[in-house]
Amino acid sequence: MSTALLSVSDKTGIIDFSKELKNLGWNIISSSGTAKVLKENFVECQEISEVTEFPEILDGRVKTLNPRIHGGILAIREKTDHIEHLKRHGIGTIDIVAVSLYPFESTINKIPKPVDKKIDQNVIENIDIGGVALLRAAAKNYKDVIVICDINDYKIVIENLKNNSITEELKLTLAAKAFRHTAYYDSLISTYLTYEKFPAQVAIPLKKLSELRYGENPHQEAALYSNGIEQDKPVVISAKQLHGKELSYNNYLDLEAAWRLVHEFNNPACAVIKHNNPCGCAESTNIKNAYLKALDCDPVSAFGGVIAFNKAVEKDTAAEIIKLFVECVIAPDYSKEALGILTQKKNIRILIQTIPYKEEKKSVEYRIISHGMLAQDRDNQLLNEIKLMTKRQPTKEESEALDFAWKVSKHIKSNAIILARGRQTVGVGAGQMSRIDSLKIAAEKMKSVKHGLDEKLFPLVLASDAFFPFPDVVEESAKVGVTAIAQPGGSIKDNESIKSADDRNIAMIAAGMRHFRH
Ligand code: 5GP
Repeated sequence: MSTALLSVSDKTGIIDFSKELKNLGWNIISSSGTAKVLKENFVECQEISEVTEFPEILDGRVKTLNPRIHGGILAIREKTDHIEHLKRHGIGTIDIVAVSLYPFESTINKIPKPVDKKIDQNVIENIDIGGVALLRAAAKNYKDVIVICDINDYKIVIENLKNNSITEELKLTLAAKAFRHTAYYDSLISTYLTYEKFPAQVAIPLKKLSELRYGENPHQEAALYSNGIEQDKPVVISAKQLHGKELSYNNYLDLEAAWRLVHEFNNPACAVIKHNNPCGCAESTNIKNAYLKALDCDPVSAFGGVIAFNKAVEKDTAAEIIKLFVECVIAPDYSKEALGILTQKKNIRILIQTIPYKEEKKSVEYRIISHGMLAQDRDNQLLNEIKLMTKRQPTKEESEALDFAWKVSKHIKSNAIILARGRQTVGVGAGQMSRIDSLKIAAEKMKSVKHGLDEKLFPLVLASDAFFPFPDVVEESAKVGVTAIAQPGGSIKDNESIKSADDRNIAMIAAGMRHFRH
């Protein structure tokens, strides 16, 4: 006969659930409050204290914390010595654990937040101890035990028990859910107890790696967290710092932007980031050229920038880099000479990330908003299908440049307009509230820099992260010499933009995918 342990604060659904279990021939043991409700409803059960032969003590602080309970949950059924232990101590196995934890969340929401660190005793008493231990024990032994932490899961368990279709996959899913539940529960407690000190905690599995000197500005407290999983991944947070001052809050953001952008490209590439936007990006035959071209886009803005490379940095590139005031450099490797040159500068932060970068198919990014959080899949796709919009097709050279500019557009704050020649940005308009303003800025940037003559041999192209609601961007871009455009397409006024492009012999393609970045 199988045994279920039911210990629930929220008694919703427990009577039906226990009756179903009884009908299926299960034994039930439960903690006193749960047992009372069951007995009142004529469901036969055994009280925990009868099983443990020990009373619930300390006002219920200790109920199920007992080897007779935890032994019965944690024993691995196929291990003969585990079963031997149970027999020796007269312990029966427990095969279902259903717990609804003390209502910490609703308790804290009913009372004002702590003032002067005085925590209401009722809050403390609503910190569940034994229930969390039960859930964790059952989840750990998920192969042998079904764990339920959510009253909404009674149904699926009963259905599967009836059909004799409980799978290991279901048990694993329930176990992971239980750990997520206890992690959330604990992080909620931790958040509440330290509420005034640092409200910026989140209830996803995060551990603090370090305090940061300050946040975006010196008057803002800040810290760095890791989700504990990313450590062996090709990400900025697990890069090794070889030189320079500790990384700042803004450095992390800019490094992340730079590192992700530069890995859009297979050939040697460089991105220079300022305030999370590229002020230059280029792909070339070698790293030095890529750097010089990226810098050439907007050398004024590059001052104090964060620079990323997708290939090793050699001494010739290092010699160029130190001519500029640079906050951080990140690369997969550095030659010894390059490091020697770069480290002559005391303050430059040098980071190395040797694990080859690969964008994960599915990964989630989080943004905190007041009292909540947004979560979304990362924008790790590029385009759907390229469709020609205009009469004229882009030339081979234009296509090359459009491909480059389109890749960069994904990494720029909206509204994003990129002007490019070859595989080099020559003007970037970022973060403007109107698209036409982004174009004007990109064009201004382009005009303000005397680009190398050879670049003039390439056609000038434009990429836009989102569609054109009006034909004005096409009209303006023709004025600055743009001959080809890439944009997502899909505006109800596409026809007007297409006509405008056709009238000016501009080739325009639709990528079928938008890359807003807010
Ligand atoms: P009941 O109402 O059945 O007396 O108690 C159910 C609640 O007690 C559940 O929320 C369960 O998580 C919690 N619980 C079970 N065992 C223990 C224990 O040993 N210590 C504490 N503090 N809570 C427990």
